[in-house]
Amino acid sequence: MNEDLILVRFGELTIKGRNRGRFEDLMVRQVKTALAAYPGLNYRKTYGRLYIELNGEPYRAVAGRLKDVFGIVSFSRVLRCGHDLQEIRETALRVFRQVRPTPATFKVTVKRAWKAYPHDSQEMNHLVGAHVLRNSPELKVDVRNPDTELKVDIQPEGTYVYAGVEEASGGFPLGMNGKAMLLLSGGIDSPVAGWMSMRKGLQIEAVHFHSYPFTSEQAKEKVVSLAQRLAYYGGSIHLHLVPFTELQTRLAQTGQEHLIITLMRRSMLRIAERLAEKRGALAIVTGDSLGQVASQTLGSMNVIGRETSLPLLRPLVMMDKLEIIRIAEKIGTYETSILPYEDCCTLFVPKSPATNPNLRVIENVEKQLGSELDRLIEEAVNGTDTVVLTEKSRSDTRAAAQEDQWF
Ligand code: ATP
Ligand code: MG
Repeated sequence: MNEDLILVRFGELTIKGRNRGRFEDLMVRQVKTALAAYPGLNYRKTYGRLYIELNGEPYRAVAGRLKDVFGIVSFSRVLRCGHDLQEIRETALRVFRQVRPTPATFKVTVKRAWKAYPHDSQEMNHLVGAHVLRNSPELKVDVRNPDTELKVDIQPEGTYVYAGVEEASGGFPLGMNGKAMLLLSGGIDSPVAGWMSMRKGLQIEAVHFHSYPFTSEQAKEKVVSLAQRLAYYGGSIHLHLVPFTELQTRLAQTGQEHLIITLMRRSMLRIAERLAEKRGALAIVTGDSLGQVASQTLGSMNVIGRETSLPLLRPLVMMDKLEIIRIAEKIGTYETSILPYEDCCTLFVPKSPATNPNLRVIENVEKQLGSELDRLIEEAVNGTDTVVLTEKSRSDTRAAAQEDQWF
């Protein structure tokens, strides 16, 4: 009998030393959490690798979930057997027969990590390949560009055979690189910026500015649902809902219509910085993309960014909108992002927002507001509502996997 396993490969191979162990421990813990809906699974960690025994759990469903766990570069469904030649040959044939579409050409690559094994890799390539050929009359060998590469990995504890590699998200395990605050609007960009940050190992807490009652309950629900989607990738997410109405109204009263967006963004950063201090976050992430709108020109970014001394991370800054949309679709936020509910910023959108705001003018306006601005910021921070969101029920994913295919 073969053991039915998934071989999981971790990413960021450049990590060395003590960090490597931390990386792997975090990784295994997060894989287990992500796959909690499959209690039959058994985990076995060896240096740099994780084997998951399926024990009858549905491979396709487990694979679908694994693809979204950060830090995993790829994985393969593997059959394990002993060292007996005949057993290896039969296992190889069994794996080969599962490959779809049925390949016309193939090659065998044997790796002999266990040097005491009596046949060397070359001999084994022939011994295993000949057996597969004998049982598949139409099949041909092609060592340069085969439809399928059958891999046989001979280790001291057993032999692992597989024929396909599935790509996963890559990156770092979540939280490996610390915590940042994500400015999460209801738009397309900021959820993508959040996903990209999480993929790089940042734990994210989301901050959303709302102008209730000018903005609707649905607008808030939309952001909750986006944060929930991010929680699917990150286990759970703190969402800080900041009341922005008063501050925004006061800024609008300054009469600097074309500068209102710049002023609002600077206040948002001040508030986010305060929340970051409270929550132990070391950076602020935004969905800014260079040149996309008036507030995202280099001139605007320059004036807005000066308001905080925390690093401002902008994962999308050099990306085109179409690339961003493609990721939004892939990570499952796009459908929600395009729902037509108003954002707090669209309420006061001027006809011609400044694309190159003048820092001195901005600072003057803020100085005139003086302690009133400080007070409004303080009130917004204190009035912030925090909710902890977890991913929606995992049973949906489980039910969706009715047919258990191999690859
Ligand atoms: P998005 O699709 O993320 O809304 P956008 O193209 O609409 O981006 P802007 O509205 O100019 O761009 O916002 C730029 C960034 O500022 C957003 O990506 C987000 O990080 C932050 N931001 C804007 N509005 C809000 C808000 N109401 N709450 C929290 N962050 C916001
Ligand atoms: Mg927006």
